[in-house]
Amino acid sequence: ASKEAGRGGYRFYTPDLNQHAMERLNIENGLRRALDNDTELFLEFQPQVELAGGRMIAAEALLRWRTPEGTVIPPGRFIPIAEETGLIVPIGEKVLRSACAALARWRAAGLPMPRVAVNIAAPQFESRKFGETVAAALAEFNVPADRIELELTESVIVRDADAALRAMARLKELGVSIALDDFGTGYSSLAYLSRMPIDLVKIDRAFVMRTTEDESARTIVRSIVALSHALRHKVVAEGVETRAQLTQLRRSGCDYVQGYLLARPMSEAALTAWLSSPITPAEALLGDKDGGL
Ligand code: C2E
Ligand code: MG
Ligand code: MG
Ligand code: MG
Repeated sequence: ASKEAGRGGYRFYTPDLNQHAMERLNIENGLRRALDNDTELFLEFQPQVELAGGRMIAAEALLRWRTPEGTVIPPGRFIPIAEETGLIVPIGEKVLRSACAALARWRAAGLPMPRVAVNIAAPQFESRKFGETVAAALAEFNVPADRIELELTESVIVRDADAALRAMARLKELGVSIALDDFGTGYSSLAYLSRMPIDLVKIDRAFVMRTTEDESARTIVRSIVALSHALRHKVVAEGVETRAQLTQLRRSGCDYVQGYLLARPMSEAALTAWLSSPITPAEALLGDKDGGL
């Protein structure tokens, strides 16, 4: 905004901007405090299921922040600030360890351990210690590497594509899966898509939302699925909210779905109940022999 502020730069001093700066500072200080205790930051989990049959293949870990006043701040408001201040690195490590701890508890309870997908911000991925951090979290909780999936966005290959490709290859050697998140919203070229050692492409919710109204969105989704399959990547659609969207995604050949229609993000206890139930709501919705609906 500074460039638009004009010669005088007077806009820096309007009450609005002051309030904005104040809120950022509050969030930054609050996050530092939250990192020091074990009560404020916690994870919810949202199932990803097979479009044919509804079997759960993974759960995405989504970070939540409940301040001492009891307000839950959504990640969209604090992750960007955590990225700018570098706090995302220790926060991300905490998320990885919490995800592994949850996996260890499901294993100890004798439940089928799902894969847990963990969102990784660019500054985490770019830190030279990142591979070690992942390996250490797996070892600490005795979790097999194939239970963890790292969700990266195209932004990680913008700065130094070759370094990013090498870092991805090292992570693959550890045995974790890699997903490309929010696909279609970034800037990566098709050339890089073919060179990235990824397992899964996640189609951004913006395209999923428009598939029922907009022929061009349907074309985009079909093309992403075809391209991904040609490169031997599986495809998951995020943000699926309606049966009509599900029908379009099935026609497009999408492999997996995630969204409020199947399940909302839920607490660890709720996911434990989900894992223990003989037929999950997603299986009830997608499970009949004709392939559902
Ligand atoms: P994302 O990784 O693309 O996660 C999917 C977001 O879509 C989540 O929002 C999820 O709650 C929401 N969602 C899922 N299904 C539906 C649906 O059917 N309809 C709608 N409207 N939304 C749906 P959430 O939890 O608010 O997270 C927002 C973003 O914050 C995430 O987008 C991710 O980029 C970031 N984030 C969340 N947790 C972490 C984390 O632990 N580390 C990092 N670095 N980023 C995180
Ligand atoms: Mg994600
Ligand atoms: Mg996403
Ligand atoms: Mg998204």
